[in-house]
Amino acid sequence: MQPSLIIHGGAWDIPDDAVDACKSGCLSALRAGWKILKSGGHALDAIEAAIIVLEDDPVFDSGFGSHLTMDGRVECDAIVMDAATLRAGAVAGLRRVKNPIQAARAVLEKCPHMMLISEGAEHFAAAHGVQLCDPRDLISPAEREAWLRCSKDSHAAQNHRGHEQGTVGAVALDGHGRLFAATSTGGTCCKLPGRVGDSPLIGCGCYADRETGGVSSTGYGEAIMRVVMAKTAADFLRPAGSTPARAAQAAVELLANRGHGTGGLIVLDKNGKPGFAFNTPRMALGYVNEESSFFASV
Ligand code: ASP
Repeated sequence: MQPSLIIHGGAWDIPDDAVDACKSGCLSALRAGWKILKSGGHALDAIEAAIIVLEDDPVFDSGFGSHLTMDGRVECDAIVMDAATLRAGAVAGLRRVKNPIQAARAVLEKCPHMMLISEGAEHFAAAHGVQLCDPRDLISPAEREAWLRCSKDSHAAQNHRGHEQGTVGAVALDGHGRLFAATSTGGTCCKLPGRVGDSPLIGCGCYADRETGGVSSTGYGEAIMRVVMAKTAADFLRPAGSTPARAAQAAVELLANRGHGTGGLIVLDKNGKPGFAFNTPRMALGYVNEESSFFASV
C-alpha cells in the first residue's frame, strides 16, 4: 500500500509576514513524517514526528509559541486517534509538557481512559517518560508581546489580529494500511484559563475511522464543536462518489451555515487520498502527492 501524509498549521487570517515561515514549517513537518513512512514505518510514529516539528516551531499555536490565556499562561490540548480501533488519546490544559502530542500518545497507548486533563494528564505523561518543562519555556517572545499589547486594552478581540497563526494537525496512512489522525493546539488567543476548545475532543478537532478516513480540524473551536466537524467530515466520505475535497468543503459549509464560524480541515480518505477546505483568508497546510513530491501552501 502506498503511504500518504497530510498536515496543517491552522486556518485563520495568517499575517503576510508569517506566510513564508508557515510554509517552511509545513515542509519540515512533511519531511519528518515522510522519512518514517517511506522507510516502512508506523503511521503513529510519522504523525508524532510531524506534529513535534510543528509544536516546536513558534510560528504555530501549539507547544512552544502557543497563544496565551487571559492570565498570561500557556495551556495546551492535543489528541491522537487510531482509525482501526476508534480509540483516542486526548489531553487538555497542559502547562508543563514540551510536546503535548507525546502526552496524547501516552494516553492512547497506555491509559485505560481516553482523555486526561491538567495536572492529572501531566503526572500520567511524566510517569510514562514524556518530558516536562518549565511553563515559561512554552512562551515565545512574540506571543508574550502580543499578550502585553492585548492586556493594555482589556484583551479586546481586534487586538488578536495580526498574530493569528493556528493549531497544527496531521493525518497519516502507512504502507501497512494503518491510519492515524492528530491535532495539537494552544487554543485561542486570550482564552479564559481552563477553556478547552474543539481540538482535543474526539469527533470535533480530530477523527479517524478505517471505514472512511482521518480528519484534523482548526478554527474557531466553539463553532467546530457545534457541528462536530471532524466526525461529520469523515461521514461525508461514506456516499459513493464522494471525494476528500468535497467532504472537506461540505464540512466547512456546515461550519459556516450551522456553526456560524470559520475554520478549516484536512482529510485523508481510507485509501490515502488527501483533501482540504477552509473559509478563512488563509490556511497553512501540506501533503505528499502520489509522485511523493511535497506540496505546501499558505
Ligand atoms: N480550534 C482551536 C481552538 O479553538 C484553535 C485553532 O484551531 O487555531 O482551540
